[in-house]
Amino acid sequence: MSGVSAHPLAAGDDVTGTRDVLVVGAGPVGLTAALALRAYGVPVTVLEAGPEGRQRPGSRAIFTHSQTLQILDRISPGLGAELYRHGVYWNTQRTFHGGKEVYAKTYPDPPDGVYPHFTSLPQVQIEAYLHARAVAAGVGFAWEQEIAQVTADDDGVVLTTAAGRRWDAPYVVGADGSRSAVRKQIGARMEGTRDEGWYVVVDVAEKDDPTLPRERHFHYAHPAVGGRNVLIVPFAGGYRVDLQLVEGDDQEALASDEGVRGWLDAVLPPGYAQRTTWVSTYQFLQLVAHDFADPHRRVLLAGEAAHLFAPFGARGLNSGVPDAEAAAIAIAAASRASGAAARTPVEAFALARRSAALFNRDAAGEALAHLRPDAETAARVLAAAERAPGDADASVWLEKAPYGPRGVHRADTVYRY
Ligand SMILES: Cc1cc2nc3c(=O)[nH]c(=O)nc-3n(C[C@H](O)[C@H](O)[C@H](O)COP(=O)(O)OP(=O)(O)OC[C@H]3O[C@@H](n4cnc5c(N)ncnc54)[C@H](O)[C@@H]3O)c2cc1C
Repeated sequence: MSGVSAHPLAAGDDVTGTRDVLVVGAGPVGLTAALALRAYGVPVTVLEAGPEGRQRPGSRAIFTHSQTLQILDRISPGLGAELYRHGVYWNTQRTFHGGKEVYAKTYPDPPDGVYPHFTSLPQVQIEAYLHARAVAAGVGFAWEQEIAQVTADDDGVVLTTAAGRRWDAPYVVGADGSRSAVRKQIGARMEGTRDEGWYVVVDVAEKDDPTLPRERHFHYAHPAVGGRNVLIVPFAGGYRVDLQLVEGDDQEALASDEGVRGWLDAVLPPGYAQRTTWVSTYQFLQLVAHDFADPHRRVLLAGEAAHLFAPFGARGLNSGVPDAEAAAIAIAAASRASGAAARTPVEAFALARRSAALFNRDAAGEALAHLRPDAETAARVLAAAERAPGDADASVWLEKAPYGPRGVHRADTVYRY
């Protein structure tokens, strides 16, 4: 028995639900899991701690890979295309070192009917499109249901909210994000590291007369901000700017209104710093759950409930979506099996998605080693910057290395973004 007590259903207990599969969390991963379950004909209800109609802040997962769009098309025909239509794509990427351009490339537009490598739109919009599709597909929603206790046995799962309401289900997908109560309740441990370095991340809204090009710019050692690294990424409606802090920086000061205005004015054209809509700080976390399912193979973890990666490389949402699809496939298969055979699809899910997460953690780790270099890597970056852009190998290395190895491993394929 996992959880804090035995499967506690007794005659006369007040238990809500129709034995739908339950998904905990209405973030992008939970919504994708619910849609995928409906695609397999499985009845599903999403339990979300937040209230209906809540507004989540910030752009967060803007960079949606084409393979993620393809998965969304698979589970809800036309959904990937809908996100693509509302997102933005940029063909030009530039990298600078100390203000000198060391890499620039403009890719041709993809042929008609083919997604480019990515589309870029704020996570809040991605969630709105997912939610509308989920409602249309018959997913049930229960808001203000903060799950506090999870109890599983070989027959199913009982979830208990902080307010004491109980929900019974044959299977549960835990998609309740980085602080996942579901993960803690099933006894899954996060393994990995937290890097000491800090980033400040800011959204700025686009101007009516844009003076920032729709291009992705990465600056090593930006001369206007004391040699700190800066990343500027467009998304539908604005730009995200990440400032990498250096040792001794006060992240609270640099993330304050005044601090942000100061450094943003130095790295963006005039008029953008006043258009800040969101400021946050983050550290690089490199954590993967030791198991992606409970011992009874009834509770499956997906997305940030199961893993946390550094944002460079855009592996969060882009690996959470294949987690969600894989969880739905496993539950659909397990629901048709009986006895011990029902464990097999869940075992396969847990192994495959954990192995994908370990790949992504290591890949994000390579990006981290490049962005917070030891003396040897720092010297290599400097030498490459002196040779680039004339030396094509040095130029390409400076462009690619901040994101780690290409792609997000989905257990079956490795793909480009
Ligand atoms: C600055 C930043 C930039 C990022 N950029 C990218 C990017 O470009 N590309 C990318 O792929 N990823 C990116 N990410 C990561 C991405 O935002 C996450 O991977 C994504 O939000 C994870 O989705 P999720 O559904 O697993 O969790 P969440 O989005 O955290 O959703 C979890 C949901 O569960 C609910 N919940 C929590 N606890 C409970 C409970 N006990 N009971 C019920 N409900 C609960 C929460 O309210 C929430 O709605 C970025 C993240 C940050 C912070």
